[in-house]
Order: sequence, then structure tokens, then C-alpha cells
Amino acid sequence: MNCTFCKAPLSNGRVNHIVDLGEHIIIVKNVPANVCKQCGEYFVDTAIALKLESIVEKARKNNAEVFIVKYDEMVA
Ligand SMILES: [Zn+2]
Repeated sequence: MNCTFCKAPLSNGRVNHIVDLGEHIIIVKNVPANVCKQCGEYFVDTAIALKLESIVEKARKNNAEVFIVKYDEMVA
């Protein structure tokens, strides 16, 4: 798989995924992702994207302005 932006090869890594909902900002740390070393863009697998969605749902209900979680703890 290559980066859809700059076509450089992707490598496995971990990223901090930030979701900006305006009033709420959710930061999920250490998300497994395919990372582009050239432009810094990252791509998550579908299964992980689904987990991120459920984490974001939980965070929205929490009502904190800034919600920071570790991916590994949320999916354990
Ligand atoms: Zn790239």
C-alpha cells in the first residue's frame, strides 16, 4: 500500500489520532496505522477505524472539552 497523497510507501507505526468536533476535541493516542514517512499522512485499517468511531461516541457522551485516551486501553 502506498500513500494516496504522495505515493510514497507506507510503514507500520503508531499515531495520535485527533478528532476535532468543534466543542469537543478527542485525542486517541497510539493508534496502529500505516504511516507515510514522506508527508506524515496516515491511514488506519477499517477494523481500527470502526473502533475509533466507538471511542469517539463514548467520548462525546463524556462531555469533556478535551478527551484523551490511549487506544490500547480502550480496546482491551
Ligand atoms: Zn505521503
